[in-house]
Amino acid sequence: MNCPEPKMMQAYDVIVVGGGVAGIAAAVASARNGAKTLLMEKSVILGGLATLGLISWYEPLCDGEGKQMISGIPEELIHLSIKDSFEDLPTEWGGNGHFPKNQHRYATHFSPTVFPLLLTEYLEENGVQLRLDTLATYPDMEEGICKGLLVETVGGREYFPAKFIVDATGDATVCHRAGVPTELGENYLTYVTHQLTKEGAAHALEGDFCKARKWHMAGSTLTGKGQPEGMKMLRCETADDVTEFVVKGGKLALERLRKTGKEERDIMTLPGMPNYRKIRRIIGEYEFDGSENEVKFDNAVGSMGDFRKVGKHFQLPYTTLYNKSFPNLFAAGRIISAKGDGWEITRVIPVAALSGEAAGTAAALCVKTETNSHTLNIETLQSTLKNAGVLFE
Ligand SMILES: Cc1cc2nc3c(=O)[nH]c(=O)nc-3n(C[C@H](O)[C@H](O)[C@H](O)COP(=O)(O)OP(=O)(O)OC[C@H]3O[C@@H](n4cnc5c(N)ncnc54)[C@H](O)[C@@H]3O)c2cc1C
Repeated sequence: MNCPEPKMMQAYDVIVVGGGVAGIAAAVASARNGAKTLLMEKSVILGGLATLGLISWYEPLCDGEGKQMISGIPEELIHLSIKDSFEDLPTEWGGNGHFPKNQHRYATHFSPTVFPLLLTEYLEENGVQLRLDTLATYPDMEEGICKGLLVETVGGREYFPAKFIVDATGDATVCHRAGVPTELGENYLTYVTHQLTKEGAAHALEGDFCKARKWHMAGSTLTGKGQPEGMKMLRCETADDVTEFVVKGGKLALERLRKTGKEERDIMTLPGMPNYRKIRRIIGEYEFDGSENEVKFDNAVGSMGDFRKVGKHFQLPYTTLYNKSFPNLFAAGRIISAKGDGWEITRVIPVAALSGEAAGTAAALCVKTETNSHTLNIETLQSTLKNAGVLFE
């Protein structure tokens, strides 16, 4: 093989890979804590599954009994997500009151097409360097230390030196290729589309754009309802897996569409990334498994509830964000060290942003104090997060 040498690029203190909600939170937290920060994203639309994947429902920041569990950057993001478009945030949490029946949690729908534009502005305002169309391919590892990242772009292969990396790829590409132990997720087949119907158009004419955009989920729900008969759980390891997932999901969406007449509806948007819930997660120093209700961790980096249940109070341990054999790599978002029920609790938008804020803050503090993931002073990290408004309960 005769491949060109990569072009040497500018060095950064912290590189965050992946512009989903976790990566955005990590990059902003890192920049606010004084690190020269680059966010690289392989697509050209920010927000990851939340926007490109058409999820567009921000799960709750509260415990379902009126108590706020999450604040900080995840709370900034929920308000940003509805700043210039529709919302149905309950009035008690500062919304317009157009929330769905019986929905009183601190949660809202948002526009998946307006939010990415606001995220770009948000990164600029917070001093984060952004590089779109930049696919991180391989971490350059030397005895467990990542010296930089090899990337592919329209301009060719490039190399970015960095002191710390936050992997917020949603599939742990960087950590996995660095050699961090990981576990693959098992998924039902799901394919989300947004449709416009005559009924929806009538809502739009009345100014209710939230109801104008109809969320359609072909395939299975979170709990497996609708999974095609005989279909096994699906993993995401190869491009063939992704192709099968998207093609089969698309066929189900088309079947469902054909049940209504052409003159009745249109598909407004297709998912720009596969709707896998769990692709791969790291095995870190602690594996959060969801049994830790009301448990207090000395090394907590924030608190959270459970989007599926009311009255649950968890703390997120710092040690879910790294594996100490790889001292300058952090994980953020749906790839942190959480298994079983713990993975369900931590993978949703607000908690992904929470772990992002913690990982980005930790990476920047490591640069500042010349420490690494497991030698960083935990009190310094916790007081920095508290000063930034993060709730610990
Ligand atoms: C069907 C379904 C329904 C869901 N419903 C809800 C819901 O109602 N509410 C809720 O809160 N959550 C929901 N979730 C979960 C939630 O949307 C995601 O888990 C969360 O948005 C993940 O955020 P993230 O930033 O960790 O990862 P992602 O959103 O996956 O972001 C990762 C980003 O990294 C980029 N990337 C990946 N690899 C590379 C690379 N090598 N180089 C550069 N960039 C890269 C991707 O393009 C992407 O932008 C749902 C998920 C699914 C699949």
